[in-house]
Amino acid sequence: MRLYSITHELCPRCQKGRIFRGPLWRTYLSTNDRCPECHLKFEREQGYFLGAMYFSYLLSIPPVLVLVLFLWWLTPWRFDVVLVAAFVAYLPLVPAVTRFARVLWLHLDHHFDPAAD
Ligand SMILES: [Zn+2]
Repeated sequence: MRLYSITHELCPRCQKGRIFRGPLWRTYLSTNDRCPECHLKFEREQGYFLGAMYFSYLLSIPPVLVLVLFLWWLTPWRFDVVLVAAFVAYLPLVPAVTRFARVLWLHLDHHFDPAAD
């Protein structure tokens, strides 16, 4: 059930309300202030979603590493060029990863520190 809520971007408390206002391609990171179902406040304090950056970082390392190794193996390019090319190739995935990291952060934070309101 928890995995379903995470993959479907649902509220960590009631697991019914949507976290974001719309699909990724239209609203990107536009987050509901509160859960439409249980009224859980998503952004608990200013800068709350900075914690999601840790997840974003962890989620980004493996694919970028794979891209670097793949390009290093496949091309005769210098290593610094390979790094830049891997970074550029990864850029289209950044919005989805950032959004998913925010969902993971919400669920982890709610697991260890459930909100009272
Ligand atoms: Zn909810």
